[in-house]
Amino acid sequence: MSKDWQKATRAVHAGTRRSQYGEVSEAIFMTQGFVYDTAEAAEARFEALGEDEFIYARYGNPTVAMFEERIAALEGTEDAFATASGMAAVNGALMSLLKAGYHIVSSRALFGSCLYIAEEILPRFGVEVSFVDGTDLAQWEAAIRKDTRAVFFESLSNPTLELIDIEGVARLAHAKGALCIVDNVFATPVHSNAVAQGADIVIYSATKHIDGQGRALGGVILGSRKMIRKTVEPYMKHTGGSMSPFNAWIMLKGLETMNLRVRAQSATALHLAQALQDHAKLSRVIYPGLDSHAQHDLAMRQMGDGGTLLAIEVKGGREGAYRFLNACEVGLISNNLGDAKTILTPPYSTTHQRLPQDQKDALGITPGLVRISVGLEDATDLLTDFTKALST
Ligand SMILES: *Cc1c(COP(=O)(O)O)cnc(C)c1O
Repeated sequence: MSKDWQKATRAVHAGTRRSQYGEVSEAIFMTQGFVYDTAEAAEARFEALGEDEFIYARYGNPTVAMFEERIAALEGTEDAFATASGMAAVNGALMSLLKAGYHIVSSRALFGSCLYIAEEILPRFGVEVSFVDGTDLAQWEAAIRKDTRAVFFESLSNPTLELIDIEGVARLAHAKGALCIVDNVFATPVHSNAVAQGADIVIYSATKHIDGQGRALGGVILGSRKMIRKTVEPYMKHTGGSMSPFNAWIMLKGLETMNLRVRAQSATALHLAQALQDHAKLSRVIYPGLDSHAQHDLAMRQMGDGGTLLAIEVKGGREGAYRFLNACEVGLISNNLGDAKTILTPPYSTTHQRLPQDQKDALGITPGLVRISVGLEDATDLLTDFTKALST
């Protein structure tokens, strides 16, 4: 790969490994293991792995390595470790870095399973977790201590699309010697400058925009070569959360079109947000790309775009939201995001059903709220679908 290549070129070519057949499209190396010519060669490989050498698919595989190299080239990190799902990535990053007695600070607005790890699992192993309102830098500053090992947050929160200032939080973390770990799923690799903004470790659920077509689970942990190979890899390869070669192939092919998809989805999201912002049946339209979003300037500075998701609050609470959801014909009721198909999610009663009421209140998750992950359909068809559904 040339260092001068732009992101769009990297997304198509970086990390490619060709077999002796010179295939154009990346091969799927659907193999758990690798044959050694001699016993001496086997011994040598177990002693030290060469640049293009593999032992066992849980440790590494050529198709998985292609995906890791390509996404690292896009994100601008030295290395990456691909995982079986986004949650295997979050768990792997945190568990490999932390041990009993360590302290971390986390934003409270987290994806449900991330919150479970921070709130239930880490304390069980003696890791102390302090939660803050991630949008408030003063709370981060007060919570980060001299013995804080890491800070963890989602740069764009689910489902109410609040931004956390990566640069601001990373500066506070680094001042106390803590690492900055960013779950950047909602921002997408296309709109990410997380490393330049101070993130030490970036995590994606590849299930979302990287696949982008709702087919497979996957995840990735990105960081320095030392961090990935000395800290993350030993934990991941021995605990079994590695990505399958088949899924790595899906994600590799996903990366080739991600730039086009995400930009088209974001353009449609902005169009919908602008068209719906004064709709009489809606009490709120939340989209970071709108001037009316409280953190619009930060969104533009951090992502250069409003992203592929918006949230609307339908008047009439649960009844209003359900009437809208049940009347939509193009938008599907489901809970993935970043998909080619537009997906509508009522977080109050689905993804965030079990969250205590006071936390729902604090995060602004009301019964009328609908999260919209904008797909690749025609923007006019989507707007017609939504306005028709809102008028029922
Ligand atoms: C989906 C998601 C995850 C988990 O990813 P899976 O691939 O479903 O395991 C983690 N964080 C965020 C912000 C997500 O949206």
